[in-house]
Amino acid sequence: MKQEDLIRNIVESMKMDLYVEAKIPEMHVCFLCGRIGYKNLPMKKIGEKWICIDCLRELKETLDSLEEWEQELALQKEFKKDLEKGFNR
Ligand SMILES: [Zn+2]
Repeated sequence: MKQEDLIRNIVESMKMDLYVEAKIPEMHVCFLCGRIGYKNLPMKKIGEKWICIDCLRELKETLDSLEEWEQELALQKEFKKDLEKGFNR
């Protein structure tokens, strides 16, 4: 790489840093995945934390399947109880 190009690269990256710094007020870090959200990654504030749309979607899916999950856990518990009963017999 030519010296000139190298300097140009450094200047470009400095410009980028300045741009990012200038953007900080509207940037937030997702408390779940740690990604930084702005324009291309919509964020929502929940309490004092920010969460990105991807994590929010995942969270919603988890919540939607919570009932199913709880039923599964209850079944496992029952099954375990039955097994323990069987062992103690
Ligand atoms: Zn996230």
